[in-house]
Amino acid sequence: ALYKAKSSGRSRWIIYTREFQDEDKQRSALGARIRRATERGEFTLVYQPQFRIEDQHIVSFEALLRWSPEDMPSPDTQLLVSVLEESGLINDVGQWVLETACQQHRQWLDKGMVDENCTMSVNVSVAQLSLANFSSRLQRILERCQLPPQCLNIEITESALIEKNSSCIRVLNDVKAMGVQLTLDDFGTGYASLAYLTRLPIDYLKIDKSFVMAMNSDKTSRTIVMSVLAMAGTLNIDVVAEGIENEGTLTQLREARCQYGQGFLVARPLPTGEIEALMKTRQRRETRAAELLSSQD
Ligand code: C2E
Ligand code: MG
Ligand code: MG
Repeated sequence: ALYKAKSSGRSRWIIYTREFQDEDKQRSALGARIRRATERGEFTLVYQPQFRIEDQHIVSFEALLRWSPEDMPSPDTQLLVSVLEESGLINDVGQWVLETACQQHRQWLDKGMVDENCTMSVNVSVAQLSLANFSSRLQRILERCQLPPQCLNIEITESALIEKNSSCIRVLNDVKAMGVQLTLDDFGTGYASLAYLTRLPIDYLKIDKSFVMAMNSDKTSRTIVMSVLAMAGTLNIDVVAEGIENEGTLTQLREARCQYGQGFLVARPLPTGEIEALMKTRQRRETRAAELLSSQD
């Protein structure tokens, strides 16, 4: 109950009930199974494109963790990540995620599928940042994969960062100094102030999908999205809207001059092969459009 109270915003009380015990049992059973999965290397990554809102040109891929055990249904990724964080396994799994995503991006560069303006976005837990040697580990991964640092974009969740403030800002400054890009993820779910934002060395703000998905139907969500865009504009930070599921939302975001987007409307998170097929189709379409344009001249 104490942990639950702390994690749901502190300064509140929560009574321990029977349901907590059941949830604890489920989590610890899952924890044991996840530990085995880590040892056996059962995780995979899928990639979701992020695009320029103006013309839907793909500018980045977000690497997302997946686990498909044979003996049970796949758990929700958020739950999987929280169990990995609680058990400390996130450090090893997170290292594997960074290494795999960077290798993948290097391969896509080598195949000419993307250029060096395209980035690979990787979610990093605050627990990983707190490891003494995070930035030197990251440096070694970039060297091993021969990936230019500007091709990597690290996403940190806003609420998690607020809790562990000053030590993380130091690490983020080191990472930024290496040339790696930084995104503040799930923006709007924490309580970041304008003053706090100016202390973070971030390149992008990612508006949480709960606001983007509701902006068509809910006035408050729309107001939050518009306020974030106005505030980010003042601070010269580009915005990514995540959770774009329909044309209406895309149009509203375009009109509001939101720079980047991500969502099921353009592409769901996909395995490597399907991303490559998607990129080939797009390249073919772009070449055809360019040929058509030049034949008209
Ligand atoms: P996130 O970083 O905010 O990632 C975006 C989530 O939104 C993904 O969920 C993605 O599938 C989902 N999403 C994107 N567009 C849409 C949309 O249009 N509609 C809907 N309904 N959902 C959309 P996913 O893959 O389940 O990941 C959940 C969270 O788990 C991530 O949220 C991130 O916080 C965490 N996570 C995922 N992979 C990793 C990882 O490798 N390391 C760490 N530390 N965390 C990870
Ligand atoms: Mg993310
Ligand atoms: Mg997010």
